[in-house]
Amino acid sequence: MPKSPVQPRPRQAAPSPAGPAAAEPFSHSRAGDVFQILRDGQARTRAELAEITGLARSTVAARIEALSAAGLIGPAGEAVSSGGRPPSRFAFHPSSRVILAVDVGATHVLIALTDLGGRVLSELRESMDVAAGPTDVLDAVLELCTQVLARAGRHERELVGIGIGLPGPVEHSTGRPASPPIMPGWDGFDVPEYVQRRFPTEVLVDNDVNIMALGERANFWPDAQDLLFIKVATGIGAGIISGGLLQRGADGTAGDIGHVRVPRGGEVLCRCGNYGCLEAMASGPAVAAALNAGGVPANTGEDVLELARRGNLAAIQAMRQAGRDVGDVLAASVNLLNPSVIVIGGGLSSAGEYLMAGVREIVYQRSLPLATARLRIVQSMAGDHAGVLGAGRMVVDHVLSPASVERLVTAHAQA
Ligand SMILES: [Zn+2]
Repeated sequence: MPKSPVQPRPRQAAPSPAGPAAAEPFSHSRAGDVFQILRDGQARTRAELAEITGLARSTVAARIEALSAAGLIGPAGEAVSSGGRPPSRFAFHPSSRVILAVDVGATHVLIALTDLGGRVLSELRESMDVAAGPTDVLDAVLELCTQVLARAGRHERELVGIGIGLPGPVEHSTGRPASPPIMPGWDGFDVPEYVQRRFPTEVLVDNDVNIMALGERANFWPDAQDLLFIKVATGIGAGIISGGLLQRGADGTAGDIGHVRVPRGGEVLCRCGNYGCLEAMASGPAVAAALNAGGVPANTGEDVLELARRGNLAAIQAMRQAGRDVGDVLAASVNLLNPSVIVIGGGLSSAGEYLMAGVREIVYQRSLPLATARLRIVQSMAGDHAGVLGAGRMVVDHVLSPASVERLVTAHAQA
């Protein structure tokens, strides 16, 4: 499995739904390499591909044939002729294969079927309690996956992989959750092995905030090399993309900002056992509890959002204060990592500008001027689809790597 699914976008590449071509050197002459050129979505002739790759025309022709036979590329009209028969052009066919993208939250699951370009073909959302344990949750997820495939009229054999985001720390290389606090029974569970019993395909698993960062970046900030994605919901966490690469840390817990102590935290007990954590002050349930204590009935983050939408002043002030608490932790993160974009997502970010205003207020006040000179702090544009977009992207970057494409083409040739 790849160390990181995030790859730098070549600066000269035209924007395309397929996203960046992997910037891999052409050290091996393989079909996968010709494919990496075409991944940017531009149609090219055999001659153009030969010139870019430095491969012989006959070699390029053979590779185009193999990629076409596997369905990954296809004819895309004709180029202008300089006399004689006009040369055919070929382009990436993102709709040729499909990916199941699964975003498991604490209380719900969203499953999307996407093509290789990240286009959502069908999706299903269901309430689900992640605390029910891995077999119950995954059995339900697998049933929904079957339904999503059927709804889109696609077949299992078109599936190239399944990407799954889970609401807790995950050891990405094995796909096993690592001591997830809100997921009893999941610690060390072999998620890929269990899923592969039903769908024998590539299965990649990561923490939900990491995949949200991937999804937001791939779809809306492809040129941002240093991006922080902050999820503010039932829990609070950050996905860190630094130097174009997703940073998971030594044990997969990088970005766990929810348990950093905030100045206002005082003696407020957090579910982790410490006092004054960001999550104990600014998460959906924490803000609801603070409102309740002040005589405004609210139990969940949803209640807080609804109150704020209706113009309840206490709720609006509480959300702005939650934003300031998040800003306290982010100000330090900005000095440490110097991101160019901070994206605020998760349920509590969806009610307009209240949370954002608090975040901006503190970050611009506390961070070093040079670190904030070009910094943009924005609301998530992917919204509640950031997770599935990122889960799909994680799989695409893995299965469309030169080595994987080579295997796909070879497997097709042998089938
Ligand atoms: Zn804590």
